[in-house]
Amino acid sequence: MAGVEERVDPSQVSTVGGIDSEGQIIVENPATGREIGRVPEMSADEVVELARKARAAQPGWNALGFEGRARVLNRAQKWVIDNRDRIIETIVSETGKTYEDALIAEINYATSAFGFWAKNAPKFLGDERIKTSSPFVLGRKLVVRYQPLGLVGVIGPWNYPLTNSFGDCIPALAAGNAVILKPSEVTPLTSLLMAEGLRACGLPENVYQVATGRGETAQALIDQVDMVMFTGSTATGKKVMQRAAETLTPVSLELGGKDPMIVLSDADLERAANAAVYYSMQNGGQTCISVERVYVEEPVYDQFVAKVTEKARALRQGVPTGYGAIDIGAVTSPAQVDIIDSHVRDAESKGAKILVGGHKHGTGGANFYEPTVMVDVDHSMLAMTEETFGPTLPIMKVRDAEEAITLANDSPYGLSGSVWTKDVARGEAVARRVQSGAVDVNDAMLNYSALELPMGGWKASGLGTRHGAAGIRKYCAQQAILVTRFAPKRDVHMFPYKKSTGKLIGGMLKLIYGRGKRD
Ligand code: NDP
Repeated sequence: MAGVEERVDPSQVSTVGGIDSEGQIIVENPATGREIGRVPEMSADEVVELARKARAAQPGWNALGFEGRARVLNRAQKWVIDNRDRIIETIVSETGKTYEDALIAEINYATSAFGFWAKNAPKFLGDERIKTSSPFVLGRKLVVRYQPLGLVGVIGPWNYPLTNSFGDCIPALAAGNAVILKPSEVTPLTSLLMAEGLRACGLPENVYQVATGRGETAQALIDQVDMVMFTGSTATGKKVMQRAAETLTPVSLELGGKDPMIVLSDADLERAANAAVYYSMQNGGQTCISVERVYVEEPVYDQFVAKVTEKARALRQGVPTGYGAIDIGAVTSPAQVDIIDSHVRDAESKGAKILVGGHKHGTGGANFYEPTVMVDVDHSMLAMTEETFGPTLPIMKVRDAEEAITLANDSPYGLSGSVWTKDVARGEAVARRVQSGAVDVNDAMLNYSALELPMGGWKASGLGTRHGAAGIRKYCAQQAILVTRFAPKRDVHMFPYKKSTGKLIGGMLKLIYGRGKRD
């Protein structure tokens, strides 16, 4: 593979989040191991101070209304386009991903999200007039309204510093909140660059702030905010929820996934094979909704494996130097290399055959894992049951669609999945039986780009959703308003209770509900 540097002893791989003598976090380029910046590790007291400033700034931001806020967000959309080369350089240098992954999955997302929330915030958060069927309430005006919670804390991961960390700040801001983002210690620079961008677009001071630091900084942030949006591992998600429980702070959690791909025997195998390789290894496989395991019906299994193997062997991996240079970059978090390798070694020790790749490599603190294809896998192996989050593709032969569905659902996770068949009606029927928050037919991951669709996990993959109406309402307090304009001096149900009260109300209930429904 082009660009692959000589293999190193795995124990030589650098550790992340080194701290200098002044307590600063050292940020490294995972594709080269070189230092690219230093950021403060903020203490709990510093987080308290950020929160104080955010709360002072938030009412002014909210007072701008949807239109005023949309102006800033629309300017930010253009700012991202105008400054995309600089943003991409920052993302690539702190993640080690390809320029294409930064453009397609980050710049594209952020620009689309700025426009989407600027336009749709008033639609999703405007007052809703409600009708009621309750006889007691007839004639009253009923309204549901949304108001920003105040201060939102976003805790983000390292795989998509713009899309997953910063992206969740956009709807929170559009709703009128102030936001403090705690990016991963591994990739804090993009979040800081976005602070500069938002300032240039007219966002009032302290409405968006970045709390750089590690787990302790994140825990301190949870104590200060009115709502937490977290993306990361299921294990850390549980810690977030535990801490938030102490202050009864609501959380929305987007956690790990083990997304199954089901290939039926009538699928367009060429497209399915291209998609299997792309959606398992795009962004180095470090995507919560990447294809993590494949189930292929017996009649087409050999053909599918042959196609996938050929395509995976052709992938170029190395240091990203520009568009078209490589297909797969580095593993962003050094700790992740060992997780990936432990899954591959576990599978190998239990009888899996590695057809492509299967090793970590890199020199001088660079972290890479070879694009890897495995067969003869089963559910006794971590590679088929736990999130690998790397450029790996384990493929399992199944008797039929029923077995594929059973195995797809044999997982603690339920983030998303995909079904591949030319019979789209059958594909949709199979999709409806997969236990996950999203299922694509003849596609994978693409649902994430439709910001109108809710995106969230079932089971251990999370709580709550991003995108869609619920993706912004979660940043708001909901208030029900009831207004009575015309009413008698005393309603029939008020004191004093009289014999006639029971008779009247009983009769009314019988009249309305007592007729029974026709079979
Ligand atoms: P984490 O879930 O630990 O990290 C996510 C964020 O949480 C980071 O900002 C991290 O900070 C922060 N954090 C760490 N400890 C705490 C804590 N105690 N309380 C609150 N926040 C905390 O992910 P990892 O980096 O450890 O990755 C582990 C696994 O998570 C991966 O192997 C992958 O399976 C999964 N993952 C899933 C993602 C997704 O999109 N759903 C994204 C990334 C990872 P810091 O990084 O500074 O420690």
